[in-house]
Amino acid sequence: MTSPVREATLIAGDGIGPEITEATLHVLDALGVRFDWDEEYGGMSAVEKAGTPLPNATLDSIRRTKLALKGPLTTPVGGGYRSVNVALRQEFDLYANVRPTKTIVLGGRYSDIDLVIIRENTEGLYVGLDHTFRVGDDPKAVAQATSVMTRDGSRRICRYAFEYAKTHGRKKVTIVHKANILKATSGLFLETGRLVAKEYEGVIAWEDKIVDNTAMQLVINPQQFDVIVTTNLFGDILSDEAAGLVGGLGLAPGANIGVKAAIFEAVHGSAPDIAGQGIANPTAQMLAAAMMLDHVGEREAGDRLRRAIETTIVQDNVRTRDIGGRASTTDFARAVAART
Ligand code: NAD
Repeated sequence: MTSPVREATLIAGDGIGPEITEATLHVLDALGVRFDWDEEYGGMSAVEKAGTPLPNATLDSIRRTKLALKGPLTTPVGGGYRSVNVALRQEFDLYANVRPTKTIVLGGRYSDIDLVIIRENTEGLYVGLDHTFRVGDDPKAVAQATSVMTRDGSRRICRYAFEYAKTHGRKKVTIVHKANILKATSGLFLETGRLVAKEYEGVIAWEDKIVDNTAMQLVINPQQFDVIVTTNLFGDILSDEAAGLVGGLGLAPGANIGVKAAIFEAVHGSAPDIAGQGIANPTAQMLAAAMMLDHVGEREAGDRLRRAIETTIVQDNVRTRDIGGRASTTDFARAVAART
């Protein structure tokens, strides 16, 4: 089966990035989905080649294609480099971080988790207003962080969550907040979220929940959640908590969606401890590619890829070491390709 060729930027990344990216391209090929990849660099490999972790050529490419599949990037330690991931988020106003969490490997605490956390990616405590103050002879006697939330920012992320629910056949959105204490910032998010929810009355059910209760409910009864929408810091914490419920980061994909571009990636890092050994698990990167297919309207191919991954792991029992198997990265890719 063939599909139209789309231009997209490919950043293989550092560490295990090239290995899991090659595996992902192999299964995309088997699916019959064609992308016209513009291969660019980021992270340490870009520092080696271009002297900067985020070359202009990479930014120009994403500006043009508006679509990227990205491997993990090693953040160079020292040298005053800022995080490439944060820079990309700011440059392309990637306001929605989407992290699906679904049970694939059985035998954990839960066998039926299927939820999506949508995190606001640009506001809140991540705006960079974080300072220490001198009092007397103590230069860091006081520390202060300022959280900035806007009505527009809250509205667009909540709308994104409800639209996501609608287009992905989800039934309920949970608005997660701390409005009981953070009455201005979290209060604005909740107030705006409730107004957005009204626009979807009769289409998508909704509720709101305080973040601490949500964290506990995720552990004791995660099946109650469908789509969660929340602010930057809460989303950061809850999405890693959710990944831990289904076997860890090796299986967790993520998407960063903005008005100007969308970037898809595995949630994990460059895993320098296993890089070059051919044993990395490419599942998260493959699942990120499946999200990219959904995003460009290739839902059927995205579903086919997710089914092939599940069948390979559960039925064929072909697994990489991190999830209890012995398959190499390329063995696993071949097995998934055979199931597409
Ligand atoms: P990590 O996610 O790279 O590794 C944590 C542990 O998980 C390691 O033991 C690793 O071997 C294992 N692991 C991760 N992915 C795996 C996979 N696909 N298959 C099998 N095992 C896997 O986290 P870290 O060690 O804290 O970070 C390493 C580097 O990655 C740092 O430079 C960090 O800044 C960067 N990082 C980048 C991103 C990104 O680009 N999105 C995200 C997180 C960390």
